[in-house]
Amino acid sequence: MTTNDPVPFVDLAAAHRAVADEVAAGFAQVLATTAFVGGAPVTEFEREFAAFTGRGHCVGVGNGTDAIELALRALGVGTRPEDEVVLPANSFIATAEAVARAGARPVLVDAEVTYQLLDPERVAEAITPRTRAVIPVHLFGQLAPLDGIKAALAGREIAVVEDAAQAQGATRHGAGIGSAGPAATSFYPGKNLGAYGDAGAVLTDDEELATTVRAISCHGSLTKYEHTHLGVNSRLDTLQAVVLRAKLARLAAANEARRAAAARYDSLLTDVEQSLGLDLGRPRVAPGNVHVWHLYVIRVPERDRVLGRLHAAGIGAGVHYPRPIHRSVPFAGHAPRPCPVTDLLAGQILSLPIYPEITEAQQRRVVESLAKALVDSAA
Ligand SMILES: *Cc1c(COP(=O)(O)O)cnc(C)c1O
Repeated sequence: MTTNDPVPFVDLAAAHRAVADEVAAGFAQVLATTAFVGGAPVTEFEREFAAFTGRGHCVGVGNGTDAIELALRALGVGTRPEDEVVLPANSFIATAEAVARAGARPVLVDAEVTYQLLDPERVAEAITPRTRAVIPVHLFGQLAPLDGIKAALAGREIAVVEDAAQAQGATRHGAGIGSAGPAATSFYPGKNLGAYGDAGAVLTDDEELATTVRAISCHGSLTKYEHTHLGVNSRLDTLQAVVLRAKLARLAAANEARRAAAARYDSLLTDVEQSLGLDLGRPRVAPGNVHVWHLYVIRVPERDRVLGRLHAAGIGAGVHYPRPIHRSVPFAGHAPRPCPVTDLLAGQILSLPIYPEITEAQQRRVVESLAKALVDSAA
């Protein structure tokens, strides 16, 4: 069975329906008390999300980009003008923005081609005496090779900050996000755990670091009018915490539904590959990883033509990301070496609609439209 209706890239309305009553009741409570900043919903969410990820501490902040910046600043990265931070060119630009905002220089390196994640060998070659931190990005929903990256840093005082914006619930060899160093995550509405606006968090087992992040996030102050750090205002809104608590209770099931959807794409796309004699670069899960399928990214020839045809057919496909960070205006010149894998991927990658509520009929429609778009674009 298939459907003729358009298939959106994500379906936030469906996700809302599942929590609507709980969110309404939680909002009503906050409105009744007018306690709009801090309070029980924030504290409870932080406790629950720390437990969910297996970390000791969670500090809610304003968004995922701030979460990365605050984690870096709490580690003291960016206090010297020459500080460098190594990160993948194959990521969303926010990772580099956070480094620059923390006061350090982003050093962009290439991805490894099979999993499209930060390549430990490229990290090793980018290290200089000025390197203060490395940011593995858990792109598309699976953890970067933290073991290989840590081995590349062995014996050096270089921090690891995980960009876990796309990986809520993902694990590697059984460990959740934030096992190699503080993890920064984003609750942007379209992420696996999405708020109803901007929100983010830092996760860590290091209590002192958590305390410093919390202080910086709140005007450098843990006690009113005692300012111990140069801070910012980047807190997790109470209303967002209400939404996040309701959605966190359903996150494990939602991630399981994403895994089922990914498996369905795998089998439907295998049929297309066989009938068209094409390799669609179906995403692979690295050994030891449990993937949470924030995105399902394939590789296609004539990508822009295929994408245009999918959009014309009502399929909400996307590209993550069409322009690598080292090709952006603000970060041109920030890749010390060429990034051939990232450049190649940028021209071929295509993200298919994936969300927990996607139906088999919708996925069949996506894959049928894709097969047609591939044939038409090759003609
Ligand atoms: C979404 C995202 C961010 C930024 O999060 P915001 O909450 O939008 O600031 C950072 N890194 C990656 C990989 C992301 O996907």
